[in-house]
Amino acid sequence: MIEEQLKKFIRDIPDFPQPGIVFKDITPLLQQPELVKLAVAEFVKKLEGVEIDVIAGIESRGFLFGFLLAQAMNKPFVPIRKQGKLPFHTISESYKLEYGQATIEMHEDAIQEGTKVLMHDDLLATGGTVVAASKLVEKLGGEIAAYSFVISLDFLQSAGRLTRFSDKIISLIHYD
Ligand code: 5GP
Repeated sequence: MIEEQLKKFIRDIPDFPQPGIVFKDITPLLQQPELVKLAVAEFVKKLEGVEIDVIAGIESRGFLFGFLLAQAMNKPFVPIRKQGKLPFHTISESYKLEYGQATIEMHEDAIQEGTKVLMHDDLLATGGTVVAASKLVEKLGGEIAAYSFVISLDFLQSAGRLTRFSDKIISLIHYD
């Protein structure tokens, strides 16, 4: 099963980026080109039948598989970045982190009214990041067609926070 194959190349890093957090490191997976191809193909298969115009990837690990997926599906790719990184006119959305807050941005011409967006990130934890990213899409009149993640931390039960935007949530790897 592909999930078990992929899990072998996800590394647990205790106490990163702060004490008490066990960080899921996807970099070993990036060193397995055949497995990366399988992962992209699995995303494509799971998204069959979902109408998608554009794939949006969230900085920075969301760019890795997000862009490959956009290429595999022959769709445009849109980067969502941290504040101050995108060069053209932007719209922004702030959201709460465990400590403090963060702001993400998108180019204002990245999508149009009615654009169906696949929102991609490497990992779903509390869902705060993708909820904020979804609001950017909605501000521009777009809609979320589906979400895709390499990893979902199911024990945080955050998938429920996303259903306002879409009930199609795809993860290749689950940790419960
Ligand atoms: P959330 O907003 O869902 O709480 O956190 C998800 C965001 O934080 C994603 O952009 C993801 O890249 C990053 N993140 C949080 N925890 C981890 C982790 O354990 N591993 C990786 N690779 N990213 C994480």
